[in-house]
Order: sequence, then structure tokens, then C-alpha cells
Amino acid sequence: MSSTVVSNAKILEKYMNLPMDGSIMAEYIWIDGTNGIRSKCKTLYKKPNSIEDLPEWNFDGSSTEQAPGNNSDVYLRPCAIYKDPFRRGDNIIVLCECWNNDGTPNRTNYRHECAKLMEAHSDEGIWFGIEQEYTLFDQFDHVYGWPTGGFPAPQGPYYCGVGTGKVYCRDIVEAHYRASLFAGVKISGINAEVMPSQWEFQVGPCEGIRMGDDLTVCRYILHRVAEDFGVKISFHPKPLAGDWNGAGCHTNVSTERMRQPGGMKYIEEAIEKLGKRHKEHIAVYGEDNELRLTGRHETASAASFSYGVANRGASVRIPRSVAKEGYGYFEDRRPASNIDPYLVTGIIAETILGSIPDADMVALTKEHPSK
Ligand code: ADP
Ligand code: MN
Ligand code: MN
Ligand code: MN
Repeated sequence: MSSTVVSNAKILEKYMNLPMDGSIMAEYIWIDGTNGIRSKCKTLYKKPNSIEDLPEWNFDGSSTEQAPGNNSDVYLRPCAIYKDPFRRGDNIIVLCECWNNDGTPNRTNYRHECAKLMEAHSDEGIWFGIEQEYTLFDQFDHVYGWPTGGFPAPQGPYYCGVGTGKVYCRDIVEAHYRASLFAGVKISGINAEVMPSQWEFQVGPCEGIRMGDDLTVCRYILHRVAEDFGVKISFHPKPLAGDWNGAGCHTNVSTERMRQPGGMKYIEEAIEKLGKRHKEHIAVYGEDNELRLTGRHETASAASFSYGVANRGASVRIPRSVAKEGYGYFEDRRPASNIDPYLVTGIIAETILGSIPDADMVALTKEHPSK
């Protein structure tokens, strides 16, 4: 079977260079009902100075598993602006929250409650850093670069690998890194992962709600870059059964107090609180995560909570350097690669900083059907 992807990059270039005479393209993006990302574009005739200058918009939620056909309008409320690395110039990406016709947040909109929690605890200075792992597939749904009908050599040479046969698609990773930096996402690094054709990018540290925003836009950019290369991105936590690593979203956390000398006391307090709500956290740490949290492949079992210094087989790890200095941050290793980052950062804030009356992350996921 030959490829159906035709690269028209050279032809497209002459159109990309047309002067736009002040018209701005604003790509509105949102999280859909399948935990994917959707987008549509609108022309603006004036450069927006802030989020308030951007009009609310809508889409057909019955086509994105976000609304029934007989009441299908879902509203897009702009909440953050990024530079568009694909169109450049004054063109922008507009991250949006989804709202229903009756004025309630759409069931996919976990950002709304998360933002309330972050706002209520803003004086704590909570920072997050997420390590997003993902896997590359070709258009025929084979892991990219793996031999047809077979497997590559066992894991070992691929993590942070260098050289042909050890890494695949470094071009996509490089393009995504640069495009994310250009957009204004706080991407802090990349590395090749343990399973061949699996990679990771890190976003953070980001304060409060910005973690979910930057991660969502960074995922969007990755899907878009991969389109150019005819490659599919999978965020499934266990893309291949067997002796191959799964994919996670390790979530690193600190508060102002944890980052000061003596902060270890507050890190330990937070970990104790996390241990008491293990089940509630696991419930929102990604679909199919039980296939990944087996106790093998650098994970802890989903069944019980554990923590340790420099222990990559624990639910929560305190980095060695943090233990040595006595302050810093901790790493929650449980979240899967397909998490909703607002749910995860929201419940962590709720557990370690305290709940607030009108934003209960766990109740929210129970009343809203799983994605
Ligand atoms: P690992 O050794 O687990 O692979 P990485 O280097 O991939 O670690 O990722 C570390 C993450 O921790 C990054 O996303 C970074 O932004 C985040 N991080 C660093 N310092 C802090 C901090 N004080 N608070 C929260 N996150 C932090
Ligand atoms: Mn990492
Ligand atoms: Mn990793
Ligand atoms: Mn990690």
C-alpha cells in the first residue's frame, strides 16, 4: 500500500506569503467530547489587545460528542491567546472554554472549576510541571518506524537515544519544540523515551491555571506539526501490550512554602494528603491507566499509594536533589498521558490546598459522564 499523503508544502508557500492587509486569522481551539482537540478559524479585522477583544463563538456540539442533536449549539469563550506558529505574523491561536446554551459549563469544560480553585488559592503560589509522553504511529496505525509484522530490539538503547535505529522522527520533535516556543508555550524540554518512537516534552513550571492552558496548546501544536509529516500522535497510556513502556503525564508540583528552605515539611504534608485520597485521584488520572500502572515499567501499582526519594517505582517521587537540599517540589507519577490537565491540576490543588464550596473536582467527574 502506498502513501496517500501528498506534500504540497512548496505550492502552499506562495499563498502563505500573500500580504493579508491587516486581516488576522484567529484559530479557536477547544477540548472535545473524546478528549481530543478541535479547532475552527475566524477572521478578525483588528488586532486584539487582550482576551476581552475576542468575540465569543459557537460550534455544532452534536458533531464533537459535546451536545445532543436537538440542542447542539456549544459556545466558545476565549480564555488565552498564543502566537500562531503555522501562520505567523499577527495570526493567533485562541484557547477556549466550552459553555452550554443554558449558561452552564459543558461537561468537557473542567477548566472553569479548575480556574476557580487556582484563583481561591492564588496566594499559595502553586506551580506545576507536566512531562507529556506520547507515541508516534504511521498512517496505517503501525508504531512509526517499527518493522512490518515484527518488533524492534528490546528496550534499552532508545531512552534519550542518539543515532539511526535508536530514535525515530527527531524532525517532528524539533519542529514541535520550536513551534511551541514561538507560540509562547512554556515548553521546558524534550527527550526520547524508553519505547522506540515514544517521546516526551515537558511544560512548566507554570503557575495555576496556566499549566492546563499551555499543555493543551502544546498538544494542539504537536498534532498540527505531525500532520505535516503524515504521522499520528497517540496519547494512549499503554499503546502496545507486552514488555513495552506505557506513556504518562508525570505531574510535578510545588507551592511557595515548599520552595523555601525547610520546605520538605510541606512536601511531606502534601504527600500524606495525596495518600489519603489515592482512589479519588486515580479515578481522574486518565482512561485505561490501569493498563499502565501495573508496578512494572517504572510505575507503581494503581491499587496502592507509595512514595519515596528517587524511587521511580513509587506513586509519588521526591527527586534526590530535593531531598538533599530540603526543599523544592515532588512528582506525582500516576497521571496517564491522556489526562485532562485541568482535572489533574485541579484535584491536586483541591487535595493539598483545600476544597472550595463551588468547585468539587471529584463530584464534577461523577456527574459528567466519562470521556
Ligand atoms: P524526570 O527526571 O522525572 O524525567 P523532567 O526533567 O522530565 O523530570 O521534568 C521535570 C519537570 O519538573 C519539568 O516539567 C519542570 O518544569 C518541573 N519542575 C521543576 N521545578 C519545579 C517546581 N519547583 N515546581 C513544579 N514543577 C517543577
Ligand atoms: Mn521526564
Ligand atoms: Mn518520561
Ligand atoms: Mn518524571
